[in-house]
Amino acid sequence: MEKISRRTFIKDGLAGMAAIAVAGSVPGCTSIIKKENDFSANAKSAGKYDVVVIGGGPAGFIAAIAAAREGAKTALVEKYGFLGGMATAGFVAPLSVFAFKGDLVIGGIPWEFVQRLEKMGGAFIEWPKANVDFDVELYKLCTQRMVLEAGVDIFMHSSMIGCEKDANTIEKVFIHNKNGIESLEAKVFIDATGDGDLAYMSGVPMQPNTDNEIQPSSFCFIMSGIDTESKMMKRCLYHNGLTGPSQCMPIRKRLLEMQQAGEDIPDFGGPWFNNALRPGSAFVNITRHAADSCDNRNFTAAECQLREDIFKFTEILRREFKEFKNCYVSSSAPQAGIRESRRILGVHTVTGEEYMQALKYEDSISRGIHPIDMHANKGASQIRIDLTKPAYVPYRALITGDFPNLIVAGRCISTDRQALASLRVQASCMGTGQAAGIASAMSVKNQCAVQNIDTKNLVSRLKELGAVLD
Ligand SMILES: Cc1cc2nc3c(=O)[nH]c(=O)nc-3n(C[C@H](O)[C@H](O)[C@H](O)COP(=O)(O)OP(=O)(O)OC[C@H]3O[C@@H](n4cnc5c(N)ncnc54)[C@H](O)[C@@H]3O)c2cc1C
Repeated sequence: MEKISRRTFIKDGLAGMAAIAVAGSVPGCTSIIKKENDFSANAKSAGKYDVVVIGGGPAGFIAAIAAAREGAKTALVEKYGFLGGMATAGFVAPLSVFAFKGDLVIGGIPWEFVQRLEKMGGAFIEWPKANVDFDVELYKLCTQRMVLEAGVDIFMHSSMIGCEKDANTIEKVFIHNKNGIESLEAKVFIDATGDGDLAYMSGVPMQPNTDNEIQPSSFCFIMSGIDTESKMMKRCLYHNGLTGPSQCMPIRKRLLEMQQAGEDIPDFGGPWFNNALRPGSAFVNITRHAADSCDNRNFTAAECQLREDIFKFTEILRREFKEFKNCYVSSSAPQAGIRESRRILGVHTVTGEEYMQALKYEDSISRGIHPIDMHANKGASQIRIDLTKPAYVPYRALITGDFPNLIVAGRCISTDRQALASLRVQASCMGTGQAAGIASAMSVKNQCAVQNIDTKNLVSRLKELGAVLD
């Protein structure tokens, strides 16, 4: 077994990138931070851990629970004051999909979470796909309880802003919160930021954007005052796959007609109305705008436009549909939702082709059964290809060839755009999070690089936990 190597000393991160930008060269990830931007010298240590997970979304909170339960001293860093990622910070509902024709595809800790949420009155499971509708506040409470019970130290309101490396070994990350800039050391780091922030800052090569296209962002919100008992809404609020398309077709048809008639209707998707477990209210996913979540100015401008669109669509629905005559925006998500951004160039890149064929790998660690679901950047169209059997994800898509203590989980794993269009859903992200957590604990226990853990043991431990891998 190869020990994690420690050689040359390089520091990276946002400050490093700023330093290069100031110097006028191409922004990148492998430069030495200039002394005047060197926050690492003054950062106070906030702790030393076996495993530090960055990002408390579906991939990250499950990864943290998994690592801690295996005995690793674990910390979880999250920029918001609650966990859940896109579910709670983006109002993305439902959690898709845990089962195929009534049989579980994503098991273990992710499914334990769903069952616990259901017991708390915070989940409604739509069989046979096991799409999970949820109450957003109980979701926050349930994740927090499970993470704390596993013994994880949570650092909320903390943004990871950089890292310090020795060759390709990440030694510490820097987080920014009200205490100032602090550092967290770990033997293994898990990047579950969705955008692959830690991987990017460490200098991991990213997937090229070959077709110069990126799926759009949507600003989801909770709408109240809807007649959720009406025939149309009873049909539109549930997504079990048995009662027709998931979009609310009468509304879609009317919006398209209005667009064709030359009315000023912003780009939209769906629309999708999702059960929020409260009479009269629904999660709404209708807005759509091209956005780059990794470019602050671009994303800010897109969010401002999308917020305008939320209110424009609310007004249209109130005017056009009796089911919505008393509707209002009761809450917009803390941020616009992100479907696609950076993904690592891992040891193996899962392609749409192998994914659709359900190619099984020796190191398969998770599954996915959501359709390939690609939203157009402009207009209302969407490509959707249903899978005929659940697909597999290999461990090699969670690691790079030469970063010995970095594992990624969730949306930023190594996939092409087509495979991402299915794997990005929350149950699949939880599945890769579970595998990342177990793998990180094995790497710590055996003092070996994440590339050198025994994947047979990894797979068998995941099966013991309930992962469905055969
Ligand atoms: C409009 C829309 C509709 C969707 N529809 C569905 C659907 O119907 N069903 C479904 O299951 N999925 C759906 N998805 C996809 C799904 O929500 C996401 O792909 C999924 O949540 C990704 O999980 P993740 O854990 O990888 O990342 P995220 O959920 O994005 O979580 C990442 C977490 O990391 C934190 N973070 C990020 N950067 C930092 C940092 N530098 N420091 C500290 N913390 C950080 C974030 O705050 C967040 O909590 C949809 C997505 C969108 C945008």
